[in-house]
Amino acid sequence: MQTGKINVQTENIFPIIKKFLYADHEIFLRELISNAVDATQKLKTLASLGKFKGELGDLTIEVKLNKKAKTLSVIDRGIGMSAEEVEKFINQIAFSGAEEFINKYKTESNAIIGHFGLGFYSSFMVSERVELLTKTFNEGEGTNAVKWECDGSPDYTLTECKKKDRGTEIILHIAEDSIEFLEEYRVLDILKKYCKFLPVDIRFGTEKVFEPVEDEKDETKTKEVEKPRIINNTRPAWKIAPSDLTDEDYKKFYHELYPASYDEPLFNIHLNVDYPFNLTGILYFPKVKSNIEVQKNKIQLYCNQVFITDSVEGIVPEFLTLLHGVIDSPDIPLNVSRSYLQSDSNVKKISTHISKKVADKLEELYKENREEFEKKWDDIKVFIQYGMLTDDKFCDRAEKFSLLKNTDNKYFTLEEYREHVKALQTDKDGNVVILYSSNLEEQHSFISAARERGYDILHMDSVLDSHYINLIERKLEKTSFKRVDAEIIDKLIEKEESLPSKLTDDEKNLLMPLFEAEATKDKYTVIFENLSETEMPVVITQPEFMRRMKDMSAMGGGGMMGNMPDFYQLVVNANHPIVASLLKTEDEAQKKTLIKQLMDIALLSQNLLKGEPLTEFLKRSVSLIQH
Ligand code: ADP
Repeated sequence: MQTGKINVQTENIFPIIKKFLYADHEIFLRELISNAVDATQKLKTLASLGKFKGELGDLTIEVKLNKKAKTLSVIDRGIGMSAEEVEKFINQIAFSGAEEFINKYKTESNAIIGHFGLGFYSSFMVSERVELLTKTFNEGEGTNAVKWECDGSPDYTLTECKKKDRGTEIILHIAEDSIEFLEEYRVLDILKKYCKFLPVDIRFGTEKVFEPVEDEKDETKTKEVEKPRIINNTRPAWKIAPSDLTDEDYKKFYHELYPASYDEPLFNIHLNVDYPFNLTGILYFPKVKSNIEVQKNKIQLYCNQVFITDSVEGIVPEFLTLLHGVIDSPDIPLNVSRSYLQSDSNVKKISTHISKKVADKLEELYKENREEFEKKWDDIKVFIQYGMLTDDKFCDRAEKFSLLKNTDNKYFTLEEYREHVKALQTDKDGNVVILYSSNLEEQHSFISAARERGYDILHMDSVLDSHYINLIERKLEKTSFKRVDAEIIDKLIEKEESLPSKLTDDEKNLLMPLFEAEATKDKYTVIFENLSETEMPVVITQPEFMRRMKDMSAMGGGGMMGNMPDFYQLVVNANHPIVASLLKTEDEAQKKTLIKQLMDIALLSQNLLKGEPLTEFLKRSVSLIQH
């Protein structure tokens, strides 16, 4: 027997590791199984190179729970280690990692992230004692099986032992404060989370399955049988060549990734890069719902098929966090802090590449089948707008396939649309005015007035539209957007000709205070406009500039404008006969009632009349009809 001291300066590193990685204790299992997978893969490689000539046999890795003995074991049939290798890999290398960790902690206390690559020693986060039994695949001198044992102090023992099989068995004697890891469901959960797609079969206990009964005529007859439970799919879709996968396969894999989701993805992008970095993966476009936040950050990040995290911020551009799927790359540095990750040049390249791939795929879909693309547009619109607003390069590419939808549900590219409306919707200064509605119901009267003039109206109801409109206004020359209720119809797109006024300035000055007295001063600004006699006598509009600023700052989380009251204009039609007749009405009370009624009608058409004022309006209307 050999005893020794592990080569670390710190007297006892384990309590420290335990304390600082509390939340992530469960990763010990991922680390041990990754080691077992590595050892197995190495053996397979050696066999394929002719350097291992024995039988590979069953290479399944086994995870075993013994509640009575309070142990959890990970057993592999990989390359194993000789006594000398244990000395080197476990005593020296593995623990030097531990020291490095402690040192890093000392200097960078805030930088420690959850998914440190802790390696073998992470098993001490949950164990009071760890045994490692191993037998190398090599034969000859010094290849006897050995047992290494350590209780978390820097002292260890190394003895020869009996072990029939090649490979390594690690037995964790689970500590009192970690008995959760002796629960089958807990272990199964961890395995499903981190090991679901590992490339070597992993067995954990057994499961009951129904199988058809052989030798029976009735093929529907089944019997329950107990079988080894293999927890992983060793050939996940992203590792398969796209040409070998059908749409169905991709969809099936989506549900394998998100067993709890019932939604179908819209389409996918299969990533496969080997230069200048290694990256494979599949990204799915989900239907973007109005609540973006819950759909965010679902991409799972793997390193050689080992699950690392589903928090990919810093690795993919912000707008791509709306996508779902997997990214697998051995080149993403995992055991570093987040701030480091964001400035890492490899990570930046990866991020740029993914963004480009996504733009390529969208362009391809658009070019190959525009009709299909249009069908998906409403579901991917927010995503594309988000991308265009936050990523300049993506924006330049997406300009070609970003669509606008009008109230007839027809789709146009930006350029197409500008051409479409140019003839009728160019104002006297040569600017093309694009009209839009954010709510077809509420803005109905404005929409129908505009349509009567032959104007086209876009339907823009996405949460990002106000920002998006600003963006396209900057992109398209001599083009501006106006919501249909931003002005009265004549002012919406200003043409040369304007109607003369039937009221004199004096008459307007007489009427002005009467309207102002009824309008809530800080909310409405009263103005007179010369509209046609057939237009409404009073109209309420919400000027474009103020409204858009407010919408935008509300989206961006408050700000100064976000708290401002809505700003409306009360437009009095100076040419309407009713307005002229007000001048002749002698009875002051009656005049007041009429003005109130006219204003309420205008409010009603903007869906602004509610509660008590609405009740009053109804009563007043009835009494006016009676008179
Ligand atoms: P890492 O896996 O990052 O190298 P670890 O601390 O997990 O660090 O392991 C240290 C070394 O111990 C490994 O590189 C490997 O050589 C050896 N090792 C660990 N587990 C096994 C195993 N199950 N079979 C064979 N060798 C192993």
